[in-house]
Formats: sequence, structure tokens, C-alpha cells
Amino acid sequence: MGIDEIFEIVKHEKIKFIRLQFSDINGVLKNVEIPSNDLKRAFDKGIMFDGSSIEGFVRINESDMYLKPDPSTFAILPWTLEGQKSARIICDVYKHDGTPFEGDPRYRLKRVMNEAKEMGFIPHTGPEVEFFLLPRRDNRPVFEFLDEGGYFDLLPVDIAEHLRSEVAVMLEEMGIDVEATHHEVAPSQHEVDFRYSNALSSADAVQTVKLVIKTLAVKNELYATFMPKPFFGVNGSGMHVHLSLLTEDLKDNAFYDKEKDDISDTMRYFIGGLIKYARPITAITNPTVNSYKRLVPGYEAPVNVAWSLANRSALIRVPMARQMGTRLEYRAPDPSCNPYLAFSVLIKAGLEGIRKKIEPPMPVEKNIYRMDEEEKGNFGIKVLPENLKEAIDEMEKCDLIKEALGEHIFAKFIKMKRNEWKEYSMLVTEWERKRYEII
Ligand code: GLU
Ligand code: MG
Ligand code: MG
Repeated sequence: MGIDEIFEIVKHEKIKFIRLQFSDINGVLKNVEIPSNDLKRAFDKGIMFDGSSIEGFVRINESDMYLKPDPSTFAILPWTLEGQKSARIICDVYKHDGTPFEGDPRYRLKRVMNEAKEMGFIPHTGPEVEFFLLPRRDNRPVFEFLDEGGYFDLLPVDIAEHLRSEVAVMLEEMGIDVEATHHEVAPSQHEVDFRYSNALSSADAVQTVKLVIKTLAVKNELYATFMPKPFFGVNGSGMHVHLSLLTEDLKDNAFYDKEKDDISDTMRYFIGGLIKYARPITAITNPTVNSYKRLVPGYEAPVNVAWSLANRSALIRVPMARQMGTRLEYRAPDPSCNPYLAFSVLIKAGLEGIRKKIEPPMPVEKNIYRMDEEEKGNFGIKVLPENLKEAIDEMEKCDLIKEALGEHIFAKFIKMKRNEWKEYSMLVTEWERKRYEII
């Protein structure tokens, strides 16, 4: 959308306020509201803000930063505040000297997208966002199930079904093409899938989808949580990412080989790169202590680093679709990740695979959950990190991830996550008391 068109809409729709959005290092959406009269100044010069109060940004002495709105992301918010209409625009973060801020997650993804473009590819992603809807009391979630539903269940018209369709309508209004919404396997668990698109707009869309779901949950006196494993004993919430590389004219899919009517060498090497870097990548795709309680056997989440043409116990699955639909599904990520950073490292690893022609191991068609250690060893199957500490240790050793994230985010992320782990590991839990009280 062009800037002139935006001014037209703002005037015609009587929009009083514009929310300038951006994301911190954790993927938490931030926003600064400006009166629509200031929009011109925002486009011309950017809007100044204090970067020192944003997680993972900068120190006090260099804290003046600028938000520059990306006009292609303009959308009217489908809800009003005290009757006032407002719109949002996603922004890029710039430093005082007018250069892009290297710690802006969106900028990192743009850089990796440019790298792909230089190789003749436009990466496309299609995330599947899972979440739990919980009761809400005193503005806090109550960790109890709202329903006893399961996968694809059609419950009697309940509040969650109503909410899912409201989510779909609102997202359509904001320009996001929802492909499906359904009840997931666990009670109270739901999924929203939207159409795949270029990875940058897809990461923007993840942020919008989470905002819309959270907002509608509050309006319905519920609480939406994207934490990966809110309940022991049932499935957790993943954010599987479907990935393909289209050619620059968007007319062909570089993952598809027309002659062989099969997956291309490019795709095989991309998978080779993902498998090689799967362990260090996990710190970014699964960045919380809680993430690793999901990555355990038995709950449809991956544990083993392997790829497969069919079975869902593998980390990477290649769905049956061919031609433009040829893609891989990377099943480790969870919705606590920063989508900009997660897509950056996934694409970076895949491109490295293509550059270096990294051959992946043989696809594994057997159910890996049922293999014993010896059999896994024969297939050369590694396991994903078992906790946040192990993941951060892997990441810290990985130059490719450092290159993808840039020194700034790389260092801040590791420091922050080490603190998180330390805080968690000092806790004394109920489990320990029960287990050891007898000693
Ligand atoms: N909820 C599962 C997970 O943790 C995925 C279920 C599915 O295959 O959609 O990844
Ligand atoms: Mg699912
Ligand atoms: Mg899936």
C-alpha cells in the first residue's frame, strides 16, 4: 500500500490514532501510539523513542532510536477503544545516525531474506500457531481446561468455537488469509493456520495473529496462552513452520524438480543444512525453560533430529504435495519464539546447506519414537537439546547463528537466557519435596 493511499484511508475512516509496532528480542510486540496528524512526520523522519527500556535493545547512553513505519503493513485494527478507530503500522528500528539498528529482529530477517534473494530465492513460510484458551480470573489465567474437546472436535457451539471464528474474521479484515482454525488434540487447545507468504510478512502475521487472539480472549473474559507446555500429560503447543523457496518471479518453486517430479537437489541440501544446525537452532526456535517440557516423546512434538517423507515423529517432514506446494515442515518451533529470529536462523541454515551442498542423512520412514538407542545410532540420529541450558551452550558455539542474528542479538540473547536458566534452576519445586521428603 502506498503512503498516499494510507493518508486517504486515515482521513476517510476518521482514524484518530496510529499504533507504531515493533518487536523486542523476545518477540514481545511493543507499540507507541501517535495521533494520526503525526503520521507524515513518522514517514518522513521516524518517531523517536527510548531504546533503553526495550528488552535486548541498547544502553542508556545510546538510547535515542527511531521507528520508521513500513507502509505495506498498514491495517485498521478491527476493534475500537472507547469508540475510537485506530490503525497499526509495523516499523523498522533505526539508530540516531539514520542506519538500521542491528538489534532489531525484523532487520535480521530482512538481511537473511536479502541473502536468499542474491541466490535467486524468495523464502516463504507458513506457520501453524497452537495455543490454549484458559479461564480468566482477576486478569490472570487459571490453569484449568475449558472443555474436554480433542482434535477437530465439533463441540456444541461453545465460546471457543465462537472465538475462533471471530479470530478468522478479524484476521481477514487485517489482510491475513486464514486457511483453517480448529480444535487441537489437547482439551482447551486450538490452532490457527494462515496462508503461506514471504517470510517477512509471515513473521509480521504471527505477531498480528497472537495480538488478535489475545485481544479477543480478553473481550470474552478468557486468557489465551502461547506458552509451549502449560499442562503436564497432554500435548503442548507448537508452531510448526512450513518452508519453501520460490524463484524470484514467484512463478516456480525451487524445492520442486519438474523433470523428476520430485523434491529438488536444492531442497535436499536445504534439509541437509537444517539437520546439521538443528541443535544450535533450537535455542532460538524453543527459547524458554518451558519449551523443553514439550520436546519429549509421546506428544507429537519432535525429539530426534531426522527427516521423513511421511512420519510425524521426525523433526522435518516433507508433505506429499508437489509442484508449487513442495515444502518442508519444521516441527520443533513453539509459539514462545520470536518469529523474526526463528525464520532467520532456519533460512540461514538452509541456505548454508545449499551453498555447501550438505547432503542430509537418509530419510527415516519408521516411527523413531519406537526405535531403541542402537537403531537410532545406526541411522545417525541425534537428539534435540533436552533443556534451555544445553540449547544455549550449542548456540554459543555456532558461528552461523551468530552471523544470522548479528553480534548484538547473539550476545544479548545468550546473556538473558543464561540468567533465565539460572533463576529457574535455583527454584525448589513441589516435585522435589515429594520425591525427597523421606531422605
Ligand atoms: N501439538 C503438537 C506439537 O506440540 C503438534 C500436533 C500437530 O501435529 O499438529 O507440536
Ligand atoms: Mg497442530
Ligand atoms: Mg503441522
